[in-house]
Amino acid sequence: MKKLVIITTITAVVTFVLGFTVSQTERWKPKPKSANATRVLVVTGGHDHDADFYSVFVDDSINAKVNPHPLAFTSDMRNRYDVVVLYDMILELEEKKQANLKAFVESGKGIVALHHSVCGNQNWPWWYKEVLGGRYLYDEFEGKKSSYIHDVEELITPVGQHPITRGLKPFRILDETYKNIWISPKVTPILQSDHPTSDGTVAWISPYEKSRVVYIQLGHDRNANLNPNYQKLVRNAIQWAAGKLN
Ligand SMILES: [Zn+2]
Repeated sequence: MKKLVIITTITAVVTFVLGFTVSQTERWKPKPKSANATRVLVVTGGHDHDADFYSVFVDDSINAKVNPHPLAFTSDMRNRYDVVVLYDMILELEEKKQANLKAFVESGKGIVALHHSVCGNQNWPWWYKEVLGGRYLYDEFEGKKSSYIHDVEELITPVGQHPITRGLKPFRILDETYKNIWISPKVTPILQSDHPTSDGTVAWISPYEKSRVVYIQLGHDRNANLNPNYQKLVRNAIQWAAGKLN
């Protein structure tokens, strides 16, 4: 009889404590983004990539949405985003998509083009000459043809003074290098690689005047995407392209 009383008491106490704990537990919510977080559209597609890539955008001052091809650029982006980040590789964009991307940059919105995005838009000279300021050469052009090598350890050093690289010290990274890319003579280089399999210039500011456009060649896989220097660079590039870093 005594045993039964003890068991009943224990059961009552446990039920009370559990009920109290559950009622006191609030539903988990992530910390809200800052109200003036930069609205970013990340465009992917046409090339596989490590999922670690998205960690670059986990930042309180960046509110990023991902829109892969073929959905990318199917609608007007001007009112919804401040910056488009290109991590796609579509050789030929449909006319309607070109028009939406063109309207976006012509409206003064920023572009951060990363890594293999320099291989896209092969048939759109306005894009690679005026806006991006570079193109991967699949076919020989002016006696040059582009090539790439994976897993190269290189030393990256800032060139000149620019808000994107402010405070950045030279750093080592294991990444893919490109050689013999066509680079417009009008770009302003902001990063240099020391490796002979690289063109040397690995990031630049485009001469395009209607909006802020930056290209960063780094970013092949998780060795770059999880590198704190690379993450800082891309985040700075986003804020600069949005006009918030000067
Ligand atoms: Zn790559």
